[in-house]
Amino acid sequence: MSMYLALLGAPGSGKGTQTELLSTELSGLFKFSTGDIIRSEIRNNTDLGQAVSSFLTQGKLVPDEVIIKLFEKTITDDVLLSGIVSDGFPRTKNQALSFLKKFSNQKYPLIVLSFDIELDQLMNRLLGRRICSSCNAVYHTLTKPPKVENICNSCGGSLIVRADDNYESIKVRFNEYQNEIQPIKDVLAPYIVSVDASRDTLDVLNSVKSVLSPYFKSA
Ligand code: AMP
Repeated sequence: MSMYLALLGAPGSGKGTQTELLSTELSGLFKFSTGDIIRSEIRNNTDLGQAVSSFLTQGKLVPDEVIIKLFEKTITDDVLLSGIVSDGFPRTKNQALSFLKKFSNQKYPLIVLSFDIELDQLMNRLLGRRICSSCNAVYHTLTKPPKVENICNSCGGSLIVRADDNYESIKVRFNEYQNEIQPIKDVLAPYIVSVDASRDTLDVLNSVKSVLSPYFKSA
């Protein structure tokens, strides 16, 4: 059994970490991370990367027409067959409508996990975050340091601070999130399961697993 799964939550709410922790269970699903795709385009200095880079550094959302085009291009018939885990999309009401249109009444169930957490808990999480420049694995200077300083445990890549993980950008991203989240929840309401994301990583993981266990491929 597969699924169409989306993770909603403020920056730093732990969506990416949980996706990584569930990677074995979710391995058959196509991973759609708009943030990872965009950062890779910026690193490779493509036309798309050049067009969107200033949005990222300022913490602003990339315009819907760019992101929805990326979504439509990426979600092929093969992806519909394999199922999907979407981290970072949808982020606006229009994106939520595209998401709903694509995945409701399809082969597999549609599940939207909403990672709920108070915004004031998030600043420290984001300011200490480091990501692998090669495989995008996520670390934290205090709560999840790598074994060797600034080196990724999984692939040996170097760890970097995201360009948008600074105080000013984080504030802009929080505001964007607060403005956009309710309309998204309204569109996707029948599919949403809330997860208390203020707890530590393993407690959150257990909740997520119990929500998703009926849908895992091995189940
Ligand atoms: P993330 O890695 O998901 O936190 O995304 C990093 C940045 O990429 C965001 O702050 C936005 O600038 C941009 N971005 C990622 N996903 C989207 C999206 N679905 N819609 C608009 N902008 C996005």
